[in-house]
Formats: sequence, structure tokens, C-alpha cells
Amino acid sequence: MTPRLEARRLVRRYGNITAVKDLSLSLGAGQVTCLLGPSGCGKSTLLRLLAGLERPDAGLIVADGVTLSGQEVHSPAESRDIGLVFQDHALFPHLSALDNVAFGLADVPKPHRRPRALAALEQVQMSHRAHASPGSLSGGERQRVALARTLVRGPAVVLMDEPFSGLDGALRTEVRAVTLEALKRSGAAVLIVTHDPQDALMTADTLILMREGEILQTGAPQDCYFRPRSVVAARLLGDVNVLTARMAGSSAVTAFGSLAVDRPVSQILARPEALVLSGDGVQALVVERRFAGSRTQLVLTSGGEIATGYAPPVGGPSPGDRVGVVLDPAACTGLD
Ligand code: ADP
Repeated sequence: MTPRLEARRLVRRYGNITAVKDLSLSLGAGQVTCLLGPSGCGKSTLLRLLAGLERPDAGLIVADGVTLSGQEVHSPAESRDIGLVFQDHALFPHLSALDNVAFGLADVPKPHRRPRALAALEQVQMSHRAHASPGSLSGGERQRVALARTLVRGPAVVLMDEPFSGLDGALRTEVRAVTLEALKRSGAAVLIVTHDPQDALMTADTLILMREGEILQTGAPQDCYFRPRSVVAARLLGDVNVLTARMAGSSAVTAFGSLAVDRPVSQILARPEALVLSGDGVQALVVERRFAGSRTQLVLTSGGEIATGYAPPVGGPSPGDRVGVVLDPAACTGLD
């Protein structure tokens, strides 16, 4: 993959806070990268640095081999081939959806502006609302118009700050799908910043896990989820059981079962779905059962350790029952 945009060892300080610490990443054309981290970990700062809205204290930003930010270089935001979609959409309230999108094409001959804007609205399935004012659109529709306004210029890179926040349930899923399709079709290198694990797992080709200004792990969503490099990285993506492991030959033995490992480990990180209920497994006691819609969460104890597992939403064991558990190696990873 040839990177479209690269950050090399970026640093950004505010007083004695270092918001971005020696951070490197690269974004590939046609690829969606999601940056996931808790509030305050430096995601927006990184986005502003990449967009050129702020200057780094150290490090480089390079696009297609050209330095955009460096020690003596700072190309301003408006000269970068980068589209930024803000969280609040920032649409002009007195302009129609179409004119909001066309507004970004001031340098394009007038007769071409509206047809191009309409085509961009079509990409995000909003052409039927072209003449609506932003005030009469739903949050999800405004988000799609804001995306069209960015895509209409055909930027090489698109940066999105929490694009799905403020949208709930089915609407969020729908807007996410439309957005992803439009972004993929555009061929841009895309970076989406989010603090929502579900958004990140469902949209990313590559996931970057970030905490306190640093990258903890970069990889495919499945690898980050099932093969986290640390407990902290694992917890960014959801529940995880941290099981004490004892080596017996080439097996790691835990209170909830054993796993073959290729190197000595002292802990096994097991997602709840790794604890498979099976008659012939290690015997564990069900301590608690919580209905959670599409599945039921079980709290289990064995050998003095506690772990969370899942059972089907209907039926299944109750508190006080004993169940057999085996660990699914595909949903576990070992740590030294
Ligand atoms: P996130 O987007 O992950 O919530 P931010 O990039 O907004 O994180 O912030 C990272 C850290 O930098 C936080 O501690 C925040 O308080 C600090 N910070 C961000 N912008 C500024 C600023 N303009 N001035 C001072 N501190 C800032």
C-alpha cells in the first residue's frame, strides 16, 4: 500500500500536556482507517494537525511524498488536498442542501457547480432533499450533506471527527453504511475518529487504538479485537477476561480451560465469546445471569477466578448451576 498521507513522529504540546506523543501513522488510498480512543486521548488534536489547522511541535506530515508540516514547512489547511468533516456538520442554515454542497466549488465554472453538487448528494443518497434547508433535515441527513460537501471536491484524503455521534440505533447503522459506501467509492484515504468501539469495528479496514497521545495497536479490526497486545488495548474494544495462566509444557492452563501457545505466557486475554459452554469442559459455577437482548451475559467462577461469558438469550443456565466451559483459541490471546 502506498500511503497517501503519513504522520511521522508527530508531537503536539499544550503547556505541560503532551496531547500527541511521537505518533506515526499512514493512510492508504481507498482505505478507511478508524482512530479509536477515549475522550481526551488526543484524537481531535491529531486530526487538526493532519488537516493543517495546527502546527506540530515536532515530526512530519507527508502527502504523496510532499512535506505538508515539518520543522520549517507548514502548508495551510486550504492548500491541502484534505477534506475535513466536522462533528457539528457546520452547514450554512440559510442555504439549501444543494447550495451548501455547491458552496465548496467557488473555483469551478458556475454552470458546473450545481450538477456536480447534485451528483455528490446522489452519492450520499440525498439528491431527493437537494432543496431542503439544513433546519428541516434530520441529524443523519445533515451528516450526509456535510459528507457530500467534502466529497464534491474529490479530496485525496478525508478526515472525519466523530461522524456518527448524535445518531442512535437504526439511523446510526444506516448513516454509517451510506457513509462508508460513498467514502469507498470516492477512493480517498479516510481517517475516521471515534470513541465508539462498534463504529470503529464496523467501518475500519485498519483500526488504530489510541490512549494518552500514543498508539497502542494498529491492525485489522478482528486482530485488534481478538489479539489485543495489552489489557488496556483490549478494554478499548469491549469486555475482556484477564485470566491467570500457568505453563504446562506448551499449554497455558487457566481456571477456565487450557490453550496451546507458541511461547510462555502469564495471562490469557479471553473475550466473553471465548468461553464456550460445553458439557466436557472445566466445571464453572454460574454466579449471575443478565439478560442483554440478543444474548445473555453470564458471570462464572472457577478456581477462585471470575469471568464473563455469553449464553443464548432464551434458556441457558441459571445462577447456582454448574456448566462446562472450554476456551475457544480464536477468541483468546496470551500475554507475557
Ligand atoms: P480527544 O479528541 O481524544 O477527546 P483532544 O485532542 O481534544 O482529545 O485533547 C487531547 C488533550 O489535549 C486533552 O488533555 C485536552 O485537554 C488537551 N487540549 C486539546 N486542545 C487544547 C487546546 N487548544 N489548549 C489546551 N489544551 C488542549
